[in-house]
Amino acid sequence: MLFQDLKLIDPILKALSEEGYTTPTPIQSQAIPYVLQGKDLLGCAQTGTGKTAAFSIPILQLLSVKKSTDRKRPIRSLIVTPTRELAIQIGESLQAYGKYTGLTSTVIFGGVNQSRQVTALQNGIDVLVATPGRLLDLMNQGFISLRHIEIFVLDEADRMLDMGFVHDVRRLLLALPAKRQSLFFSATMPPEIVKLADNILVNPSKVEV
Ligand code: AMP
Repeated sequence: MLFQDLKLIDPILKALSEEGYTTPTPIQSQAIPYVLQGKDLLGCAQTGTGKTAAFSIPILQLLSVKKSTDRKRPIRSLIVTPTRELAIQIGESLQAYGKYTGLTSTVIFGGVNQSRQVTALQNGIDVLVATPGRLLDLMNQGFISLRHIEIFVLDEADRMLDMGFVHDVRRLLLALPAKRQSLFFSATMPPEIVKLADNILVNPSKVEV
């Protein structure tokens, strides 16, 4: 199987080929078709399996195929991940795979001054990558609204709970629209993760690698 076989649009195929990607990894070949169909997804996969591209590529495709008509340019997709390093890596992937789509993204995380992050948000972005604490902080300050999120990703859910983010995650779920597509990734599926996934996902397709 090649990326061409996944019905990806030319701007994304071109970017992938420039990255030197020809063949999707197992999580990518399984997950991308479900996400493109608009389904919720429960993905059991670790870092190193190519899971970042497994959600980034179809998000970029869904958002570029269905252009926003909203002149206020609301944030359309939110990816929440536990650490700054993961957030930066996801941001770099979105830039690389999305460079011919015209979509924009930014990354926010704690531990640094917020002013550059706020400026990036005020410029208007399609996809936001965030760690939970800084996300809630900027939401509380009124710099971020999640009211127009179409696709939500919870990345590394098990690590998120291990790091004590469960209350932050619950609070941000309350701010998301009920009608949305949700993708949930975790390396392990202990009972509390299954419960959290049940709260977030509607009739999900399941992918395990
Ligand atoms: P991830 O599991 O998302 O952290 O990705 C692991 C590494 O594999 C990253 O460095 C990616 O750039 C790389 N990668 C992901 N998908 C592919 C692919 N289909 N072909 C080649 N490299 C890939």
